[in-house]
Amino acid sequence: MYIMRLSKSFIKTLRDAPKDETARSAGYLIRAGYIYKEMAGVYDYLPLGLKVIENIKAIIRDEINKIGGQEVLMSALQNPELWQKTDRWDDQKVDIWFKTELSAGGELGLAPTHEEPITNLVKTYVKSYKDLPLAVYQFQTKFRNELRAKSGIMRTREFIMKDLYSFHTSEEDLDRYYHEVEGAYARIYDRLGLGDDTYETFASGGVFSKYSHEYQTFIPVGEDTVYYNADRSKVLNEEVLQDDVLADLGVKREELESTRAAEVGNIFKLKFKYSEPLGLKISSKNNEMQNVYMGCYGIGVSRVMGVIAEKFCDDKGLVWPASIAPFKCYLIAIGDEGTKLAEQIYAAHENDIIFDDRAARPGEKFADADLMGIPYRVVISDKTLSENAIEVTNRKTGESKLVPASELEKLLTD
Ligand code: ATP
Ligand code: MG
Repeated sequence: MYIMRLSKSFIKTLRDAPKDETARSAGYLIRAGYIYKEMAGVYDYLPLGLKVIENIKAIIRDEINKIGGQEVLMSALQNPELWQKTDRWDDQKVDIWFKTELSAGGELGLAPTHEEPITNLVKTYVKSYKDLPLAVYQFQTKFRNELRAKSGIMRTREFIMKDLYSFHTSEEDLDRYYHEVEGAYARIYDRLGLGDDTYETFASGGVFSKYSHEYQTFIPVGEDTVYYNADRSKVLNEEVLQDDVLADLGVKREELESTRAAEVGNIFKLKFKYSEPLGLKISSKNNEMQNVYMGCYGIGVSRVMGVIAEKFCDDKGLVWPASIAPFKCYLIAIGDEGTKLAEQIYAAHENDIIFDDRAARPGEKFADADLMGIPYRVVISDKTLSENAIEVTNRKTGESKLVPASELEKLLTD
Protein backbone atom coordinates (compact mmCIF):
# COMPACT_ATOMS: atom_id res chain seq x y z
CA MET A 1 0.00 0.00 0.00
CA TYR A 2 1.20 3.45 -0.82
CA ILE A 3 0.94 5.91 2.03
CA MET A 4 1.34 9.65 1.98
CA ARG A 5 1.10 10.91 5.51
CA LEU A 6 3.21 14.03 5.28
CA SER A 7 4.57 13.84 8.84
CA LYS A 8 6.22 10.56 7.78
CA SER A 9 7.20 11.47 4.24
CA PHE A 10 10.90 12.15 3.66
CA ILE A 11 9.99 14.71 1.02
CA LYS A 12 9.71 18.33 2.03
CA THR A 13 8.39 21.01 -0.25
CA LEU A 14 11.14 23.44 -1.15
CA ARG A 15 11.07 27.21 -1.19
CA ASP A 16 13.32 27.53 -4.22
CA ALA A 17 13.93 25.68 -7.45
CA PRO A 18 17.31 25.52 -9.20
CA LYS A 19 17.98 28.81 -10.97
CA ASP A 20 18.68 27.14 -14.31
CA GLU A 21 15.17 25.69 -14.66
CA THR A 22 13.50 27.83 -17.27
CA ALA A 23 10.12 26.08 -17.52
CA ARG A 24 7.75 27.17 -14.77
CA SER A 25 6.43 23.62 -14.30
CA ALA A 26 9.93 22.24 -13.80
CA GLY A 27 10.41 24.55 -10.84
CA TYR A 28 7.07 23.46 -9.39
CA LEU A 29 7.80 19.76 -9.91
CA ILE A 30 11.04 20.15 -7.99
CA ARG A 31 9.65 22.39 -5.27
CA ALA A 32 6.57 20.20 -4.73
CA GLY A 33 8.70 17.06 -4.39
CA TYR A 34 7.78 15.20 -7.58
CA ILE A 35 11.26 15.09 -9.05
CA TYR A 36 14.84 15.66 -7.96
CA LYS A 37 17.42 17.12 -10.27
CA GLU A 38 20.70 15.17 -10.28
CA MET A 39 22.38 17.24 -12.99
CA ALA A 40 21.46 18.86 -16.29
CA GLY A 41 19.05 16.57 -18.12
CA VAL A 42 19.02 13.90 -15.40
CA TYR A 43 16.17 13.62 -12.89
CA ASP A 44 14.94 11.23 -10.23
CA TYR A 45 11.27 10.48 -9.67
CA LEU A 46 10.21 10.83 -6.04
CA PRO A 47 7.11 9.09 -4.59
CA LEU A 48 4.63 11.65 -5.96
CA GLY A 49 6.30 11.86 -9.35
CA LEU A 50 6.55 8.11 -9.62
CA LYS A 51 2.81 7.86 -9.00
CA VAL A 52 2.11 10.27 -11.83
CA ILE A 53 4.41 8.29 -14.15
CA GLU A 54 2.65 5.06 -13.18
CA ASN A 55 -0.77 6.63 -13.77
CA ILE A 56 0.30 7.80 -17.23
CA LYS A 57 1.67 4.35 -17.99
CA ALA A 58 -1.55 2.68 -16.83
CA ILE A 59 -3.62 4.70 -19.32
CA ILE A 60 -1.21 3.98 -22.16
CA ARG A 61 -0.96 0.30 -21.23
CA ASP A 62 -4.74 -0.04 -21.16
CA GLU A 63 -5.15 1.41 -24.65
CA ILE A 64 -2.21 -0.42 -26.19
CA ASN A 65 -3.40 -3.73 -24.74
CA LYS A 66 -6.77 -3.03 -26.37
CA ILE A 67 -5.10 -2.95 -29.79
CA GLY A 68 -3.35 -6.22 -29.13
CA GLY A 69 0.01 -5.01 -27.83
CA GLN A 70 1.99 -7.60 -25.90
CA GLU A 71 4.14 -6.05 -23.19
CA VAL A 72 7.81 -6.91 -22.69
CA LEU A 73 10.76 -5.27 -20.96
CA MET A 74 13.97 -5.25 -22.95
CA SER A 75 17.48 -4.50 -21.79
CA ALA A 76 18.89 -1.01 -22.07
CA LEU A 77 22.32 -2.49 -22.93
CA GLN A 78 22.92 -2.73 -26.63
CA ASN A 79 25.01 -5.07 -28.71
CA PRO A 80 26.93 -3.04 -31.32
CA GLU A 81 26.70 -5.87 -33.86
CA LEU A 82 22.98 -5.34 -34.35
CA TRP A 83 23.33 -1.61 -34.80
CA GLN A 84 26.20 -2.05 -37.22
CA LYS A 85 23.89 -4.07 -39.46
CA THR A 86 21.54 -1.09 -39.77
CA ASP A 87 24.41 1.42 -39.90
CA ARG A 88 23.29 3.15 -36.72
CA TRP A 89 26.29 2.41 -34.48
CA ASP A 90 28.62 4.96 -36.01
CA ASP A 91 28.70 8.23 -34.02
CA GLN A 92 28.81 10.13 -37.32
CA LYS A 93 25.42 8.64 -38.22
CA VAL A 94 23.76 8.70 -34.79
CA ASP A 95 25.17 11.45 -32.65
CA ILE A 96 23.31 10.83 -29.38
CA TRP A 97 24.84 7.50 -28.30
CA PHE A 98 26.06 6.85 -24.81
CA LYS A 99 28.62 4.09 -25.21
CA THR A 100 30.67 2.21 -22.71
CA GLU A 101 33.54 -0.30 -22.60
CA LEU A 102 33.12 -3.86 -21.42
CA SER A 103 35.82 -4.84 -18.94
CA ALA A 104 36.14 -8.11 -20.85
CA GLY A 105 36.83 -6.06 -23.98
CA GLY A 106 34.52 -4.59 -26.57
CA GLU A 107 31.81 -1.97 -26.43
CA LEU A 108 28.19 -1.70 -25.39
CA GLY A 109 25.64 1.05 -26.00
CA LEU A 110 22.87 2.41 -23.85
CA ALA A 111 19.66 2.17 -25.88
CA PRO A 112 18.44 5.42 -27.44
CA THR A 113 15.52 3.38 -28.95
CA HIS A 114 14.87 -0.33 -29.60
CA GLU A 115 14.15 -1.10 -33.27
CA GLU A 116 17.29 -3.20 -33.68
CA PRO A 117 16.99 -5.46 -30.62
CA ILE A 118 13.22 -5.97 -30.97
CA THR A 119 13.59 -6.96 -34.62
CA ASN A 120 16.35 -9.36 -33.70
CA LEU A 121 14.35 -10.78 -30.79
CA VAL A 122 11.25 -11.33 -32.89
CA LYS A 123 13.31 -13.32 -35.42
CA THR A 124 13.49 -16.19 -32.96
CA TYR A 125 9.70 -16.51 -32.76
CA VAL A 126 8.29 -15.25 -36.04
CA LYS A 127 8.91 -17.68 -38.89
CA SER A 128 5.73 -17.83 -40.90
CA TYR A 129 2.90 -15.60 -42.11
CA LYS A 130 0.80 -17.45 -39.51
CA ASP A 131 2.81 -15.75 -36.74
CA LEU A 132 1.72 -12.29 -37.91
CA PRO A 133 0.45 -9.66 -37.28
CA LEU A 134 2.31 -9.04 -34.06
CA ALA A 135 2.57 -5.96 -31.85
CA VAL A 136 5.09 -5.80 -29.00
CA TYR A 137 5.67 -2.88 -26.68
CA GLN A 138 7.42 -1.81 -23.52
CA PHE A 139 7.92 1.05 -21.11
CA GLN A 140 11.62 1.49 -20.96
CA THR A 141 14.38 3.89 -20.13
CA LYS A 142 16.12 5.45 -23.13
CA PHE A 143 19.45 7.22 -23.06
CA ARG A 144 20.33 10.02 -25.44
CA ASN A 145 23.35 12.24 -25.27
CA GLU A 146 21.31 15.34 -26.11
CA LEU A 147 23.40 18.40 -26.81
CA ARG A 148 21.01 20.58 -24.90
CA ALA A 149 18.78 19.22 -22.16
CA LYS A 150 16.10 21.71 -21.28
CA SER A 151 12.61 22.42 -20.05
CA GLY A 152 12.93 20.12 -17.04
CA ILE A 153 11.72 16.60 -17.80
CA MET A 154 10.57 17.57 -21.28
CA ARG A 155 14.03 16.93 -22.76
CA THR A 156 16.39 14.80 -20.74
CA ARG A 157 19.37 12.52 -21.30
CA GLU A 158 17.58 9.60 -19.70
CA PHE A 159 13.83 9.31 -20.18
CA ILE A 160 10.94 6.89 -20.12
CA MET A 161 9.38 5.94 -23.42
CA LYS A 162 6.53 3.69 -24.42
CA ASP A 163 7.72 2.06 -27.60
CA LEU A 164 5.50 -0.20 -29.64
CA TYR A 165 6.65 -2.15 -32.69
CA SER A 166 4.36 -3.93 -35.13
CA PHE A 167 5.10 -6.65 -37.68
CA HIS A 168 3.00 -7.51 -40.72
CA THR A 169 2.86 -9.64 -43.84
CA SER A 170 1.69 -6.82 -46.12
CA GLU A 171 1.60 -3.09 -46.55
CA GLU A 172 -2.21 -3.15 -46.26
CA ASP A 173 -1.99 -4.84 -42.90
CA LEU A 174 0.61 -2.33 -41.70
CA ASP A 175 -1.74 0.48 -42.83
CA ARG A 176 -4.66 -1.10 -41.00
CA TYR A 177 -2.68 -1.34 -37.78
CA TYR A 178 -1.29 2.17 -38.18
CA HIS A 179 -4.91 3.41 -38.13
CA GLU A 180 -5.62 1.38 -35.03
CA VAL A 181 -2.67 3.04 -33.32
CA GLU A 182 -3.98 6.46 -34.39
CA GLY A 183 -7.26 5.60 -32.65
CA ALA A 184 -5.46 4.41 -29.52
CA TYR A 185 -3.29 7.54 -29.43
CA ALA A 186 -6.33 9.82 -29.71
CA ARG A 187 -7.90 8.01 -26.74
CA ILE A 188 -4.65 8.11 -24.76
CA TYR A 189 -4.14 11.87 -25.13
CA ASP A 190 -7.82 12.45 -24.31
CA ARG A 191 -7.58 10.41 -21.14
CA LEU A 192 -4.35 12.19 -20.18
CA GLY A 193 -6.18 15.52 -20.38
CA LEU A 194 -4.22 16.67 -23.46
CA GLY A 195 -6.91 15.89 -26.04
CA ASP A 196 -7.91 19.49 -26.70
CA ASP A 197 -4.42 20.70 -27.54
CA THR A 198 -2.76 17.67 -29.09
CA TYR A 199 -2.80 17.26 -32.85
CA GLU A 200 -1.69 14.54 -35.17
CA THR A 201 0.89 16.37 -37.24
CA PHE A 202 2.34 15.60 -40.65
CA ALA A 203 6.06 14.94 -40.44
CA SER A 204 8.57 13.63 -42.92
CA GLY A 205 8.33 9.93 -43.54
CA GLY A 206 11.78 9.18 -44.82
CA VAL A 207 12.10 6.84 -47.76
CA PHE A 208 9.32 4.38 -47.00
CA SER A 209 6.16 6.37 -46.63
CA LYS A 210 5.20 9.84 -47.67
CA TYR A 211 4.61 11.02 -44.12
CA SER A 212 5.07 9.95 -40.60
CA HIS A 213 3.00 11.54 -37.87
CA GLU A 214 3.95 13.33 -34.74
CA TYR A 215 1.61 14.08 -31.90
CA GLN A 216 2.21 17.70 -31.03
CA THR A 217 0.77 19.44 -27.99
CA PHE A 218 0.42 23.18 -28.55
CA ILE A 219 2.27 24.83 -25.69
CA PRO A 220 4.45 27.96 -25.51
CA VAL A 221 7.48 26.19 -23.99
CA GLY A 222 7.45 23.58 -26.78
CA GLU A 223 10.68 23.27 -28.76
CA ASP A 224 9.00 22.69 -32.10
CA THR A 225 7.17 25.05 -34.43
CA VAL A 226 4.10 23.69 -36.17
CA TYR A 227 1.75 25.17 -38.77
CA TYR A 228 -2.01 24.71 -38.81
CA ASN A 229 -5.03 25.72 -40.85
CA ALA A 230 -8.09 27.53 -39.48
CA ASP A 231 -10.07 24.47 -38.37
CA ARG A 232 -6.85 22.70 -37.35
CA SER A 233 -7.68 19.73 -39.50
CA LYS A 234 -4.20 19.95 -41.02
CA VAL A 235 -1.16 20.44 -38.82
CA LEU A 236 2.34 20.28 -40.30
CA ASN A 237 5.76 20.36 -38.74
CA GLU A 238 8.59 22.49 -40.08
CA GLU A 239 10.32 19.76 -42.08
CA VAL A 240 7.34 19.23 -44.38
CA LEU A 241 6.48 22.89 -44.91
CA GLN A 242 7.18 22.78 -48.65
CA ASP A 243 5.18 23.59 -51.76
CA ASP A 244 4.62 19.99 -52.84
CA VAL A 245 3.39 18.95 -49.41
CA LEU A 246 1.11 21.98 -49.11
CA ALA A 247 -0.39 21.12 -52.49
CA ASP A 248 -0.71 17.47 -51.52
CA LEU A 249 -2.57 18.36 -48.31
CA GLY A 250 -4.69 20.99 -50.01
CA VAL A 251 -3.61 23.93 -47.88
CA LYS A 252 -2.09 27.31 -48.73
CA ARG A 253 0.95 28.70 -46.94
CA GLU A 254 -0.71 32.06 -46.30
CA GLU A 255 -3.70 30.51 -44.54
CA LEU A 256 -1.50 28.66 -42.03
CA GLU A 257 -0.77 29.99 -38.57
CA SER A 258 2.20 28.86 -36.54
CA THR A 259 2.64 28.03 -32.90
CA ARG A 260 5.08 26.37 -30.51
CA ALA A 261 4.46 22.74 -29.68
CA ALA A 262 5.99 19.79 -27.83
CA GLU A 263 6.24 16.40 -29.52
CA VAL A 264 4.57 13.96 -27.13
CA GLY A 265 4.62 10.97 -29.45
CA ASN A 266 5.10 9.79 -33.00
CA ILE A 267 4.20 6.96 -35.31
CA PHE A 268 6.19 5.67 -38.22
CA LYS A 269 5.83 3.19 -41.04
CA LEU A 270 9.22 1.52 -41.26
CA LYS A 271 8.41 -1.03 -43.93
CA PHE A 272 11.66 -3.06 -44.36
CA LYS A 273 14.06 -0.48 -42.90
CA TYR A 274 15.08 -2.74 -40.00
CA SER A 275 13.66 -6.14 -40.94
CA GLU A 276 15.74 -6.34 -44.10
CA PRO A 277 19.22 -5.58 -42.74
CA LEU A 278 18.53 -7.67 -39.64
CA GLY A 279 17.21 -10.58 -41.70
CA LEU A 280 13.70 -10.86 -40.29
CA LYS A 281 11.91 -12.92 -42.94
CA ILE A 282 8.92 -15.21 -42.94
CA SER A 283 7.60 -17.92 -45.19
CA SER A 284 4.56 -16.69 -47.06
CA LYS A 285 1.34 -18.53 -47.93
CA ASN A 286 3.01 -19.68 -51.15
CA ASN A 287 5.96 -20.94 -49.17
CA GLU A 288 8.30 -18.22 -50.35
CA MET A 289 10.56 -16.22 -48.08
CA GLN A 290 9.37 -12.63 -47.74
CA ASN A 291 10.36 -9.50 -45.85
CA VAL A 292 8.36 -8.42 -42.82
CA TYR A 293 6.68 -4.99 -42.79
CA MET A 294 7.22 -2.99 -39.63
CA GLY A 295 5.85 0.07 -37.87
CA CYS A 296 7.05 1.82 -34.71
CA TYR A 297 5.09 4.01 -32.36
CA GLY A 298 6.52 6.04 -29.49
CA ILE A 299 5.16 8.08 -26.62
CA GLY A 300 7.47 10.08 -24.37
CA VAL A 301 6.04 9.13 -20.99
CA SER A 302 8.21 11.43 -18.90
CA ARG A 303 7.91 14.24 -21.45
CA VAL A 304 4.12 13.84 -21.30
CA MET A 305 4.30 14.36 -17.54
CA GLY A 306 6.30 17.55 -18.07
CA VAL A 307 3.93 18.80 -20.76
CA ILE A 308 0.86 18.16 -18.60
CA ALA A 309 2.52 19.87 -15.64
CA GLU A 310 3.33 22.87 -17.83
CA LYS A 311 -0.03 22.97 -19.57
CA PHE A 312 -2.14 23.14 -16.45
CA CYS A 313 -0.02 24.91 -13.84
CA ASP A 314 -0.97 28.35 -12.57
CA ASP A 315 0.66 31.00 -10.38
CA LYS A 316 0.22 28.84 -7.27
CA GLY A 317 1.61 25.59 -8.55
CA LEU A 318 0.72 22.39 -10.34
CA VAL A 319 -2.82 21.41 -11.34
CA TRP A 320 -3.10 17.71 -12.25
CA PRO A 321 -5.95 16.30 -14.32
CA ALA A 322 -7.83 13.81 -12.13
CA SER A 323 -6.86 10.92 -14.43
CA ILE A 324 -3.16 11.13 -13.55
CA ALA A 325 -3.08 13.01 -10.23
CA PRO A 326 -1.03 11.11 -7.65
CA PHE A 327 -3.88 11.37 -5.14
CA LYS A 328 -7.47 12.57 -5.26
CA CYS A 329 -7.52 14.66 -2.10
CA TYR A 330 -5.20 16.72 0.05
CA LEU A 331 -6.54 16.47 3.56
CA ILE A 332 -6.02 19.13 6.23
CA ALA A 333 -7.42 18.92 9.76
CA ILE A 334 -7.91 21.89 12.08
CA GLY A 335 -8.77 21.36 15.76
CA ASP A 336 -9.35 18.24 17.87
CA GLU A 337 -12.67 17.08 16.43
CA GLY A 338 -11.44 17.85 12.94
CA THR A 339 -8.33 15.75 13.51
CA LYS A 340 -10.35 12.85 14.87
CA LEU A 341 -12.62 12.71 11.84
CA ALA A 342 -9.71 13.29 9.44
CA GLU A 343 -7.87 10.29 10.93
CA GLN A 344 -10.97 8.14 10.43
CA ILE A 345 -11.45 9.22 6.85
CA TYR A 346 -7.77 8.77 6.15
CA ALA A 347 -7.76 5.26 7.59
CA ALA A 348 -10.57 4.28 5.24
CA HIS A 349 -9.10 5.88 2.09
CA GLU A 350 -5.32 5.91 2.49
CA ASN A 351 -4.71 5.25 -1.19
CA ASP A 352 -6.57 8.33 -2.34
CA ILE A 353 -5.38 10.90 0.15
CA ILE A 354 -2.34 12.96 1.00
CA PHE A 355 -2.84 13.59 4.70
CA ASP A 356 -1.08 16.75 5.78
CA ASP A 357 -0.77 15.90 9.45
CA ARG A 358 2.38 17.97 9.97
CA ALA A 359 2.62 20.36 12.86
CA ALA A 360 2.47 23.37 10.57
CA ARG A 361 0.29 26.44 10.20
CA PRO A 362 -2.86 25.97 8.09
CA GLY A 363 -1.61 28.67 5.71
CA GLU A 364 1.52 26.69 5.00
CA LYS A 365 -0.56 23.57 4.34
CA PHE A 366 -2.88 25.44 2.00
CA ALA A 367 0.10 26.72 0.03
CA ASP A 368 1.57 23.23 -0.26
CA ALA A 369 -1.78 21.79 -1.31
CA ASP A 370 -1.86 24.33 -4.12
CA LEU A 371 1.78 23.70 -5.04
CA MET A 372 1.26 19.92 -5.27
CA GLY A 373 -1.80 20.34 -7.48
CA ILE A 374 -4.01 17.64 -5.99
CA PRO A 375 -7.54 17.89 -7.51
CA TYR A 376 -9.39 18.44 -4.21
CA ARG A 377 -8.30 20.11 -1.02
CA VAL A 378 -10.39 18.95 1.92
CA VAL A 379 -10.38 20.89 5.16
CA ILE A 380 -11.97 19.34 8.22
CA SER A 381 -12.12 21.90 10.97
CA ASP A 382 -13.91 22.10 14.30
CA LYS A 383 -15.54 25.31 13.12
CA THR A 384 -17.40 23.87 10.13
CA LEU A 385 -17.92 20.51 11.83
CA SER A 386 -20.16 22.26 14.33
CA GLU A 387 -22.46 22.76 11.33
CA ASN A 388 -21.80 19.20 10.20
CA ALA A 389 -19.85 20.35 7.19
CA ILE A 390 -16.37 20.03 5.69
CA GLU A 391 -14.81 22.26 3.10
CA VAL A 392 -13.90 20.93 -0.33
CA THR A 393 -11.95 23.12 -2.72
CA ASN A 394 -11.46 22.33 -6.38
CA ARG A 395 -7.81 23.02 -7.25
CA LYS A 396 -8.55 23.82 -10.87
CA THR A 397 -11.46 26.24 -10.42
CA GLY A 398 -10.56 27.46 -6.95
CA GLU A 399 -14.20 26.93 -6.01
CA SER A 400 -14.84 26.04 -2.34
CA LYS A 401 -17.97 24.53 -0.94
CA LEU A 402 -19.17 23.24 2.41
CA VAL A 403 -20.52 19.72 2.14
CA PRO A 404 -21.63 17.02 4.58
CA ALA A 405 -18.94 14.40 5.30
CA SER A 406 -20.96 11.85 3.33
CA GLU A 407 -20.26 13.85 0.14
CA LEU A 408 -16.57 13.33 0.70
CA GLU A 409 -17.15 9.59 0.95
CA LYS A 410 -18.85 9.78 -2.44
CA LEU A 411 -16.02 11.78 -3.96
CA LEU A 412 -13.45 9.31 -2.65
CA THR A 413 -15.26 6.20 -3.76
CA ASP A 414 -16.18 7.14 -7.34
P1 ATP B 1 12.57 14.93 -30.55
O1 ATP B 1 12.22 15.32 -31.94
O2 ATP B 1 11.79 15.66 -29.50
O3 ATP B 1 14.05 14.94 -30.29
P2 ATP B 1 12.41 12.24 -31.48
O4 ATP B 1 11.73 12.59 -32.74
O5 ATP B 1 13.84 11.91 -31.50
O6 ATP B 1 12.14 13.40 -30.39
P3 ATP B 1 11.54 9.52 -30.90
O7 ATP B 1 12.88 8.98 -31.06
O8 ATP B 1 10.53 9.08 -31.87
O9 ATP B 1 11.57 11.11 -30.75
O10 ATP B 1 10.97 9.21 -29.43
C1 ATP B 1 9.59 9.02 -29.15
C2 ATP B 1 9.12 10.06 -28.14
O11 ATP B 1 10.00 10.13 -27.02
C3 ATP B 1 9.10 11.47 -28.67
O12 ATP B 1 7.91 11.71 -29.39
C4 ATP B 1 9.16 12.29 -27.40
O13 ATP B 1 7.87 12.42 -26.83
C5 ATP B 1 10.01 11.44 -26.49
N1 ATP B 1 11.40 11.93 -26.42
C6 ATP B 1 12.32 11.94 -27.40
N2 ATP B 1 13.49 12.45 -26.97
C7 ATP B 1 13.30 12.78 -25.66
C8 ATP B 1 14.13 13.34 -24.65
N3 ATP B 1 15.41 13.66 -24.90
N4 ATP B 1 13.60 13.54 -23.42
C9 ATP B 1 12.32 13.21 -23.15
N5 ATP B 1 11.49 12.67 -24.07
C10 ATP B 1 11.96 12.46 -25.30
MG1 MG C 1 11.05 14.43 -33.46
